[in-house]
Amino acid sequence: MISTDIAVIGAGPGGISAAIVLAQGGKDVTVIDQAQFPREKYCGDGLTASAIKSLDKLGLDTTQIKSWTPINRAILSSPKSSIATLGLSKGLMATATRYDLDSALVNLAKTKGIKVFEGCKFKGVLDPKSSSKIILDVENLGQINCNYVIGADGMWSPTRKAFGVFEQQGYLGDWHAFRQYFSNVSQDPNELWVFFEPEILPGYAWSFPVGEGKANVGFGIKRKSGQRSGEMKKTWNTLLERSGIKQVLGKDAKACSVLRAWPIPTRITTTKLFAKDGKVLFVGDAARAGDAMTGEGIAQALTTGHLAAMSILESEKHRSLLAHEIYYNAVRRYLGTGHSLTMVISKLLQSPTGADLAVRGAGKPYISKRFSHWLFEDYPKTLVDIPRLWKQPK
Ligand SMILES: Cc1cc2nc3c(=O)[nH]c(=O)nc-3n(C[C@H](O)[C@H](O)[C@H](O)COP(=O)(O)OP(=O)(O)OC[C@H]3O[C@@H](n4cnc5c(N)ncnc54)[C@H](O)[C@@H]3O)c2cc1C
Repeated sequence: MISTDIAVIGAGPGGISAAIVLAQGGKDVTVIDQAQFPREKYCGDGLTASAIKSLDKLGLDTTQIKSWTPINRAILSSPKSSIATLGLSKGLMATATRYDLDSALVNLAKTKGIKVFEGCKFKGVLDPKSSSKIILDVENLGQINCNYVIGADGMWSPTRKAFGVFEQQGYLGDWHAFRQYFSNVSQDPNELWVFFEPEILPGYAWSFPVGEGKANVGFGIKRKSGQRSGEMKKTWNTLLERSGIKQVLGKDAKACSVLRAWPIPTRITTTKLFAKDGKVLFVGDAARAGDAMTGEGIAQALTTGHLAAMSILESEKHRSLLAHEIYYNAVRRYLGTGHSLTMVISKLLQSPTGADLAVRGAGKPYISKRFSHWLFEDYPKTLVDIPRLWKQPK
């Protein structure tokens, strides 16, 4: 049996962020993941300023990541063919394939002395109601005995299930997103495109360059209750035939991977963030932390991982405070208001007229700079409600 202070289940961005902050706080941390890294994660590979800053704080050297691509221009296309071009300053947006990024994070954790066991699937917990130490049952490893667990195991989170924290029956996520890689694209290698197409609003399609003439192309859609993936997938061929998207990819573009899809959970303000009196904290997709307007979740996974780790460290320092109470308050403060606001904006983007107005507004010279800092999370999302930020300078 392995004994450790904290077991982290899942070595994606949420799990590794938590593990590194805990190790920096002097804790003995053990991370397990069912996958061997590098591994694929179905994702758009887009990293906002918030994600880039978090990666930097963790100490990740992004120059070592093969597909790391700084983005210096974002072009938004509306359902009524309006175009907004946003010039992006350094550090506002980048892309990197999750194949490269996640394995770089796992390697970084290992260099910091964290034990990471790959190919080790969490199977369950022995006696989940017991008040003493937590014992996890892990394939290819045996048992792990620990004081705390960080559940960072994504949308389907086996950790939530094992500790009896369920969503409503049949929960399939709030967004569903599809992505496919294309090679030989003619798109500028440092320019990303977002297409608001009428049938997927308030969702959108994207083409994000990932180096070597390749692009990550996909679309995200708000899931209607009970809607199946196959039904949504039918939209893909129609989208690829749209003249705007076709033109951006260019005539020589070729699909070089299979189309893949995965759900995105975006309900952090209403979901339960912990189990077992705060001895188990959920982060990232397991905490349903994705952005309600964009479906983005890497920055949110890194942030919740950091907050969960800090909550454990703080609660151990001040014994009167429980980790899950600190975590709940921190999540409210850092993500809660922004989440409520993006839900409202997402409603505005539901109609072609609303999406067109948003794109045209974003393209106005005096708005575009502030808008891009807001959209790509250089400012907290809540800053949208500070009117002076958006006023035209006299
Ligand atoms: C198509 C698509 C496009 C997206 N595009 C973007 C984007 O451009 N930018 C962005 O920021 N976000 C995007 N997202 C969202 C983003 O991918 C997720 O929000 C993010 O990966 C969440 O990170 P995480 O660490 O919580 O979980 P994950 O990255 O899902 O990691 C969970 C880990 O847990 C492991 N695991 C699962 N079960 C077990 C088990 N039983 N035992 C051990 N390990 C286990 C998995 O192997 C995995 O490594 C997109 C999502 C989709 C589906």
